[in-house]
Amino acid sequence: MANKKDNLTAVLYTVNDLRLEQRPIPEPKDDEVLLQMGCVGICGSDVHYLVRGRIGDFIVKEPMIMGHEASGIVAKLGKNVTNLKVGDRVAIEPGVPCRKCNYCKEGRYNLCPSIFFCATPPDHGNLSRYYVHAADFCFKLPDHMSLEEGALLEPLSVGVHACRRANVQLGSVVLICGAGPIGLVTLLSAKAMGATNIIITDIVQNRLDIAKELGANHTVLITPDLDEQSVIKSVHKTLGTAPDISIDCSGAESSIRLAIQATKNGGVAVLVGMGAPEVKVPLVTALIREVDIRGVFRYCNDYPLALEMVASGKVNVKPLITHNFKLEETLEAFETAKTGKGNPIKIMIHCLQKG
Ligand code: NAD
Ligand code: ZN
Repeated sequence: MANKKDNLTAVLYTVNDLRLEQRPIPEPKDDEVLLQMGCVGICGSDVHYLVRGRIGDFIVKEPMIMGHEASGIVAKLGKNVTNLKVGDRVAIEPGVPCRKCNYCKEGRYNLCPSIFFCATPPDHGNLSRYYVHAADFCFKLPDHMSLEEGALLEPLSVGVHACRRANVQLGSVVLICGAGPIGLVTLLSAKAMGATNIIITDIVQNRLDIAKELGANHTVLITPDLDEQSVIKSVHKTLGTAPDISIDCSGAESSIRLAIQATKNGGVAVLVGMGAPEVKVPLVTALIREVDIRGVFRYCNDYPLALEMVASGKVNVKPLITHNFKLEETLEAFETAKTGKGNPIKIMIHCLQKG
């Protein structure tokens, strides 16, 4: 049985100062549930906050609890909660919007300027033993789905959102730039949505090997000696055509340029990767060729489909997990994420106490 008084919590104080400490167990408000945390994945953004203390205008000014790719078990219900019961295992959608602004009302709640988002300063995350969250942003997992898979619905939802924004459909020919966790979940989503010819790029062969195992039809290793035009030509030659859709999941300028330029006339280039705030791209070629450029910010109403994709067996996210740590080993887990030792894809932290 879990020790009810223990709420070991991973708190980022400032750059490279991550601590495990005890925090009080919070009480759920009327529309919230208290969750005993199950699994929390480490995301590139967590590592960014750890190493740099900021992402753009989001700056860690006060100690912040880490973690946003998470699942848990309902431990207590707020008095208005009817969609869940104690003991339910859930995936936690980490962004809870205001529900009142025009973006929320129009159904694009990911764009809500007042959204609460786990582990985005000043909002706390859920890398802890206990955590409270809005009940309607918790999605009950079927018995055959694991808490690990529940946590992986977070990155998977980014892939689902990207493919929905791109309008991936049966027969789509897709170029994905970057085979990190986000590129790989985009690959899994594109395949599940019917894409039949997918090529994926990276600068690291190991990541391309994993992409191949996950079902990419083709891979391209980008090396510094390759010039832009020859990469575009090689993508077209390998696919046998220009891609209908290109999705950049690296944030690298050369990669965004490739996505825009390789896409067929009238196609769609979707930008997911976030690198430098300003990027030089050949915008005029995009307009002459009517290539639509679309941004992606997290996800919106995508958790239910991501859950269904995994629950139905259409998508297997488990191979993404390369490393496992206990909550007590959080500092080691982040060290592994920081150094990249052992070529991690997804590092999973297990918060449940055994015995
Ligand atoms: P990651 O750093 O693990 O993966 C990026 C991959 O791109 C790496 O495998 C890297 O080797 C590869 N890469 C780098 N330069 C390249 C190039 N020139 N050509 C091809 N590949 C190249 O990060 P991740 O967790 O997979 O996230 C990917 C990107 O998506 C990040 O920029 C992240 O900030 C962003 N992201 C955006 C959203 C959103 O809502 N828009 C959500 C999550 C992540
Ligand atoms: Zn809102």
